[in-house]
Order: sequence, then C-alpha cells, then structure tokens
Amino acid sequence: MSQLSTAGWLSPTRAWRLIECPASVLPAAGNGPSGGGDQEVNTGTLAHRALERWIRAEGYRAADPKAALAEAADACATELTGGLPASWRVSRARLVARGLSLVDLIGDRTPDQVHSEIELEDEDLRLRGRLDLLLLGDQIVVVDLKTQTLLEEGVPEGVAFQLAVYAHLIQRNYGTLPTRTEVFSLNRGRIVVPLTDESLRSALEALEKARAADSSIATPSSATCLFCDHRLSCEPHWDVAPGWPETDAVEGEIIRVESAATGVSAVHLDTFAGPVWVSGIPSVLVSGAPGERLRLVRIHGGRTGAGDLPEWRWTRRSALAFP
Ligand code: SF4
Repeated sequence: MSQLSTAGWLSPTRAWRLIECPASVLPAAGNGPSGGGDQEVNTGTLAHRALERWIRAEGYRAADPKAALAEAADACATELTGGLPASWRVSRARLVARGLSLVDLIGDRTPDQVHSEIELEDEDLRLRGRLDLLLLGDQIVVVDLKTQTLLEEGVPEGVAFQLAVYAHLIQRNYGTLPTRTEVFSLNRGRIVVPLTDESLRSALEALEKARAADSSIATPSSATCLFCDHRLSCEPHWDVAPGWPETDAVEGEIIRVESAATGVSAVHLDTFAGPVWVSGIPSVLVSGAPGERLRLVRIHGGRTGAGDLPEWRWTRRSALAFP
C-alpha cells in the first residue's frame, strides 16, 4: 500500500481528487509531458486574479462597481507576458456582467469584513484552502468562483465537496459554520449550495476513508483524468480512455509525420480504432519516427463524415508523450 502524499496537506481540490482517484495525488514522475498550456495562465486563473484585485481595491464600493471590475480584469490581462487565454473574452464579459450580484451580497460590510484569496487551514486534518471570497459580519458567507461551464441543476458533487471543506475550515478558524455557502459561476451566476451537518460529516468521512485507502489504486474517469499529472503514463487510464464516448485521448504508432514551414506538424497514427491524423502540433514537440508510439491528450475533433479519416487537432491545452 502506498500513502506517499495522502498523509500530506491537501487542498479541497486535491482532497476531492483523492476521493475520486487515489493514484491521482501521488507525486508525478520527473519525465513529464511535452507541450500543453498548463503552465500558461488560463482563464480561471485570470478571472480569480481580477476578482481579487477588484476586492482589494474595494471596487465594490466604487461609484461604478461594474466599471471597476472591468478595469481590474483588463489590468490583470495586460500583466500577462504570454497571449490571452483563448476563452478570456467571453469569461471577462461574464465576470463583469455578473459582478454586480456580488455587490449585493457584500452589502454594507466594511473592507475588513471582505476578504479575497484568504488561506485557512486545519492542522489536525492537514487541510488547507484558499477562499475566493469570504464575507464576515453578522452573517458569514463563503463564495467560490467557478469559471468552467456548469450545466446541471445545482452543482457537481466535487464542487459541493469543496464548499463543505471550506465550511469546515471556517468553523475551525472562526468557531462557527458559514451562514451561506455559494458558487459564483460565470455562466450561471450565484448558486446557493446548501450545507447541512450531515453533508459536512459525510464529506469529512469520505476524505478520511480515502486517506486510509491504497493510494496506488487508479480509478479513471473522464472528469478526474482530464488534467491529471499522471495522464500520459497512467496505464489504467489508457486501458479505457481512447474508448470514452467524448474522448480527447489518442494513442497509436506513428505512420508518418508531415511538417510545415510554419512550425507545425501533422502526425498520421495507427490506433486501435484505425488510422487517424492529428494536426497543428508544434513541430518542436514531434521528435518521433515512424514505428514509435505516441500518446496525446486534450486534443479536439475525432469525428468526421463517412469515408474520411478521423482528424484531431492540437490545442493550447494539449500534451503528448512517447511512452
Ligand atoms: S490519469 Fe486518471 S486514472 Fe490515472 S491517476 Fe490520473 S485520475 Fe487516476
């Protein structure tokens, strides 16, 4: 049984990962994937920075809070050294449009009652969380900013779990549970996530159980594997992921590589489902020769009309490895 990192500190996000797939929180091997935009500032990070900047500047008390939020968002964007994340334009518009609902929530609290990106911890449970927005006063409110598209009624189970952990951290640090726990979703706005003693207890019990489990067990699922550090080398993942209905993972033997003068390459791969093309890969990453195996994740496409070869496209979030 391996319990390498599960005895260490966990954020709410990693605690949920541990519950979903114990192996996902083990340290990643040094020979990581090539490519991918994970090191770049993504839309989520940028939106969190903008919200934090707005709160710290007390933009919610400005004569025009919406304009102050837009200003904070643009200031954060101009600080980036690389390009803007692909979906930033839409996310910025949603953040600015929905930001006024946070002004209502903050109400007449004084600045020392309005905190952004505040870190709380529980040393006994070795849990540490950074709260996007914590409102103190007669009512304690915790708000978690979510930039991914939330489609279902309520919130996904993992999000409810994260809020339960935040609530626990508030109880631990302030002696009382929050009055309200909310998600601030860029596509749906404010969503109240009800918290009960029972939901809090079951969240902590699930974590305790996961911590005691064998952390070498890998339990793949499309949502948990999506940004897992182990994805390119995790065999249980490759046993099932290429067959997922909406898969973004392709593995195969290189048949041919075609490189363009523009610095991008297309790779013709022989996969278990037949030959496919993957295009738009930065040429600098394609060092493989015909006959070598190649794995790619977070690529787009794969469905074509009858008679055509499936064609996949490299994206800013893609990564590849030669296993
Ligand atoms: S790739 Fe998937 S199955 Fe493998 S460790 Fe990560 S989350 Fe678990």
